[in-house]
Amino acid sequence: MIGAGITGAMVAESLTRRGHEVVVIDRETPGHGSTGASTAMLLWEIDRTLSELIQTYGFERAARCYTASHRAAQGLLSLARHYRIPCHIRDRLSLYLAVDDSGSALRDESDLRTRAGLPGVFLDHASLLRRFEIARAGAILSPDAADADPVELTHGLLKISIARGASVRKADATAFDSAGAKVVVGLGGRHEIEANRVVLCTGYVMPDIVRPTIQRPTSSWAIATEPQPQNLWPEDVLIWEASHDYNYARSTSDGRIIFGGEDDDSAVEPQAREALTSAKRERLRRKLRALWPKSSDKIDYCWSGAFDTTEDGLPLIGTVPGQKNIFAAYGYGGNGITFSYLAAELLATLCSGGSSPLFDDFAIDRSG
Ligand SMILES: Cc1cc2nc3c(=O)[nH]c(=O)nc-3n(C[C@H](O)[C@H](O)[C@H](O)COP(=O)(O)OP(=O)(O)OC[C@H]3O[C@@H](n4cnc5c(N)ncnc54)[C@H](O)[C@@H]3O)c2cc1C
Repeated sequence: MIGAGITGAMVAESLTRRGHEVVVIDRETPGHGSTGASTAMLLWEIDRTLSELIQTYGFERAARCYTASHRAAQGLLSLARHYRIPCHIRDRLSLYLAVDDSGSALRDESDLRTRAGLPGVFLDHASLLRRFEIARAGAILSPDAADADPVELTHGLLKISIARGASVRKADATAFDSAGAKVVVGLGGRHEIEANRVVLCTGYVMPDIVRPTIQRPTSSWAIATEPQPQNLWPEDVLIWEASHDYNYARSTSDGRIIFGGEDDDSAVEPQAREALTSAKRERLRRKLRALWPKSSDKIDYCWSGAFDTTEDGLPLIGTVPGQKNIFAAYGYGGNGITFSYLAAELLATLCSGGSSPLFDDFAIDRSG
């Protein structure tokens, strides 16, 4: 595995569970890439609605992707629970808010989800206001979401893999050669690793051998308020909005509100992101107050991170085109972590010689 963020940790756990011998390398501290910046809302609902995916891919394929994502969110929660990973994981409901005045698009979305066998209910304006005190035209309320500390989850999974014999090393993968019987990974100096298979879990830093056309680099910002358990909205639901550049909110176990969004593809490099941070902080603060006026104004933290997206909201998982035995596990968008779990399960299938139609759905060279 190249990369020891949440994706590398999930893939390592999944493969060691099935008896594979695993080495994970990372050039930084494990969990300190995008994983460390993540707000870790563990949603199965995809950044593109089921209705949008149906328009692009048809009902069967769109429903398959949504169902896989739903199973992945449930699998992720069970995994963390089963191994008692100390990562503050909590079952949550997700509240997907309308941004228009009628809520009719969300009502149609809810009907489509029901047709695909997915759980959740549509709340009209009055029910939403009564139960959650939020004045929007409507919302979809869904079960089977969660939140967690993503760095603790990563470290917990790596620990399990290490206990099964995996090793985690600090190294920078600078070259890949898959022409021979083994894949050779150059480490920038005199050292190299030979492996039967290599899984790229490098997050938003893709090696040159991966050239997707459907992915777009962007950046995302988040704020965390002071602890304010007395001001939180009912039922501590995960909140997000039905738009492409949505804002989202969750609470933490110590009662802070985390509020994120303000994605911006004009500032991808860390320095450019930093320059925008104080303006983004202010916009997030104002939008949080608009969403939840009871919130305290005191912002304790503001941060940003790389946050790539794909046009169809789906991950990139499977064989890297033109590279024998090099696989990719890139879970983009607001479901990045759910997709990490999905990638780990799918790649384990691939390593055992199995197949799945999802490899076509998530192909690295798909055009969307
Ligand atoms: C502000 C923000 C909020 C987010 N909120 C959510 C959310 O609420 N829910 C959700 O599911 N997702 C969310 N995401 C997305 C989620 O965080 C990512 O999808 C996920 O963390 C990606 O994990 P990763 O392990 O693939 O990548 P990373 O965590 O970036 O890890 C990749 C690792 O690979 C290493 N690496 C890269 N290249 C090399 C190389 N050549 N050699 C050696 N090592 C290398 C890096 O050092 C790094 O440690 C959010 C992201 C951001 C930035």
